[in-house]
Amino acid sequence: MTTRIVWLRRDLRLADNPALHRAAQSAERLLVLYIHAPDEDAPWTAGAASQWWLHHSLQALSRQLDDAGSQLVVRRGDSLDVIRQCLQATGANSVYWNRLYTPMARTRDRNIKDALRADGVEVRSFNAALLNEPWTVETKSGGPYRVFTPFWKSIREQVGAVPPCPTPALPPAPEIDTGSIDSLQLHPRLNWADGFGAHWTPGSAGAEQRLQRFLQHALDDYDEGRNRPDLDATSGLSPHLHFGEIGPRQVVAAVDAASSDDGRTRSAQQADKFLSEIAWREFAHHLLFHYPETLDQPLNPRFRGFEWAGRDTDLNAWQQGQTGIPIVDAGMRQLWQTGWMHNRVRMIVGSLLTKNLRHHWQTGARWFWDTLVDADLANNTLGWQWIAGCGADAAPYFRIFNPVSQGEKFDPKGHYVRRFVPELSKLPDRHIHAPWTAPDHLLRRAGVRIGKDYPQPIVDLKSSRQAALAAYDKIKG
Ligand SMILES: Cc1cc2nc3c(=O)[nH]c(=O)nc-3n(C[C@H](O)[C@H](O)[C@H](O)COP(=O)(O)OP(=O)(O)OC[C@H]3O[C@@H](n4cnc5c(N)ncnc54)[C@H](O)[C@@H]3O)c2cc1C
Repeated sequence: MTTRIVWLRRDLRLADNPALHRAAQSAERLLVLYIHAPDEDAPWTAGAASQWWLHHSLQALSRQLDDAGSQLVVRRGDSLDVIRQCLQATGANSVYWNRLYTPMARTRDRNIKDALRADGVEVRSFNAALLNEPWTVETKSGGPYRVFTPFWKSIREQVGAVPPCPTPALPPAPEIDTGSIDSLQLHPRLNWADGFGAHWTPGSAGAEQRLQRFLQHALDDYDEGRNRPDLDATSGLSPHLHFGEIGPRQVVAAVDAASSDDGRTRSAQQADKFLSEIAWREFAHHLLFHYPETLDQPLNPRFRGFEWAGRDTDLNAWQQGQTGIPIVDAGMRQLWQTGWMHNRVRMIVGSLLTKNLRHHWQTGARWFWDTLVDADLANNTLGWQWIAGCGADAAPYFRIFNPVSQGEKFDPKGHYVRRFVPELSKLPDRHIHAPWTAPDHLLRRAGVRIGKDYPQPIVDLKSSRQAALAAYDKIKG
């Protein structure tokens, strides 16, 4: 009797899962295993919001596997030890998994592969997470890309070339204790994440619903809509993609089908824009694979000598959404309340933190890491280095976002600010993004005392901009 183990990690789905598919094709019994081994990701063990997601995602997967006549086995501990125990307990002699690309996972997986092969166990790995694995894309001179546009051009033609693989019929599971998801203790002890469930449905079914809603209601206006935090105009797929509840091949196939369905050219253009965002995710993985040091070093070496100068009090105000700058506070409160923040607002809050307040980009990256349900090492590192001006294809350091004009442009009626900063909700639209400039009688009428009901801005945007530029001059060379 052939018994195989499929070791799931960030591929928590049954559809388009090559490791599961291949193992199921040729096994008579199949053990589907998840191992919680937080130490193996150190110093980037999953943050609290991600753990909330993972807890619910594993529950959803477990139900799905039960329905498919199989079961999810969960364990906590050293991955190699657990796999060896499972091999012994079930008589299995092969282990299949889908590849991960962070430096820690690569080292761990390589060691496990070597150790199991030395034990005489068959080990096979597959690609479930990316359209193009990092080593398959290279510049004409044979190196990795550092600029997005040529990277995107080089992969554009092949996007959609590999179709998703089918959902397999699953052989029965071997006799083994399944373990309990609760015992992994992923659920945060604080009740802060209790509200996340109103915004998210972790698991493949939730991912599919998000995708369908996006295709029906938002794809057609994606290019303009995607910058508007006051609208529900992006897919919200990021946590689902991070945990592999849906894969990029499935997303591409669905987008291609939706945009060719009725021959709408507008839709095809919008689809192309959306796929280019999926390609940013690919680019982020490409960069982290080829430049693993960027987890804590700027890709642009000049920034190693940059004078970061952040103060703790500013950082607290930023984290708590109490900076006195409405669009920033709305973003930071959205993050705290929902575990997610709109991309445009991530850039605005990141610019304020790294430029006006001159906090190290890693300080922001760490806060996001703990509070985002979609926290992803590749995307987060790229995002923070991009906004700080020290990464690949980054916004130049001297481009410092003005949060007031950004708010006026992308949240023109102030709906987004009013939703997350309700103490400003009665201010007229024209003052909602800079309440400190509103005349006294309007502030009184809106019930806002600056400094009491809502903070004074913690930083003067003009002089802090000048100070940031002066600091940049010192490393510009
Ligand atoms: C400072 C900063 C930190 C960020 N940290 C993360 C992170 O930890 N995890 C994360 O998934 N994204 C991160 N992003 C990228 C981006 O903000 C999110 O992917 C996006 O907001 C997710 O919302 P969505 O799924 O509705 O996006 P959509 O607009 O619907 O895009 C579809 C998918 O494309 C990918 N994508 C879109 N934009 C980007 C981008 N700029 N970089 C990489 N991939 C992208 C995501 O997988 C996203 O789900 C960060 C951006 C910044 C500026």
